[in-house]
Amino acid sequence: MTPAARTATTPATKPLRKKPAKRTAKRRKPNPYLAWRKRLDRTRPGLIRFTQDGLASLYGHPAWERRLDPTSELILTILTQNSADVNAEHAFQALRAAYPTDGPVERHIPGPGWGGVGLPDGVTPDWSRVEAAPYSELVEVIRPGGLPNQKAKGIQAALRAIREARGDYSLEFLGELSALEARSWLTAINGVGVKTASVVLLFSFGMPLMPVDRHVERVARRVGLLPPKANAEEAHDYFLAMLEPDEMHEAHVNLIRHGRLVCQARRPDHDRCPLRDRCRFVDPKAP
Ligand code: SF4
Repeated sequence: MTPAARTATTPATKPLRKKPAKRTAKRRKPNPYLAWRKRLDRTRPGLIRFTQDGLASLYGHPAWERRLDPTSELILTILTQNSADVNAEHAFQALRAAYPTDGPVERHIPGPGWGGVGLPDGVTPDWSRVEAAPYSELVEVIRPGGLPNQKAKGIQAALRAIREARGDYSLEFLGELSALEARSWLTAINGVGVKTASVVLLFSFGMPLMPVDRHVERVARRVGLLPPKANAEEAHDYFLAMLEPDEMHEAHVNLIRHGRLVCQARRPDHDRCPLRDRCRFVDPKAP
């Protein structure tokens, strides 16, 4: 057989069979929030339940009610950033007075987690006029709320982003999304962080999200519910891993109340606190 014939009929060597590529199983990154929850369950069993029950013994089980429509809630929440809630109320009232509509009167149902006195009934501000207002004018209007330059910018940017994306200022469509989708939609707006988005979605729609403000964060850190190195932003997702969806509202409201009334920054009143026996601030080795 000539070499040519052999090539045509019987190959001199078997063609190399490509070895099937080894499937490298992609290792999923462990979810740090779930890992922390498991660690708490293992090392400090029952702590989450203990905290919830202890707070409920002082503050009860607050019922959820919509506080405001979501656009008003967003603007009011921006006004509360680094300011007392009562000052944010003054600034929101000033917006109503400076840019009134002839729309229906809105009612603010602040509930126990709110630190102000509650807005009086009044018409919703005309958001198109707020967005179009000269910046310096808006700064003067909201001055009673504190940090007016930063907030005027944030408010106009948020209103612009909503109008450009949706054609109007309504955020009611967020109620159709899942909690995390809605949170992502809001946090894509410049200046709207996870805390602000979570407040809007929890209080306007009852979505299972956990806004972590300074009171919530302080109490949770002292008890040891959060990893010491977790930052305030991450704290939101640690809570989502620790709590059931229907526990978020009560946990948020009761932690805030506890931070304001008992576990204050400078003088925490340990003797009045039902969490004392398991609080790592009082005893670093608490169970
Ligand atoms: S025991 Fe003291 S530090 Fe700990 S949660 Fe209660 S008040 Fe705060």
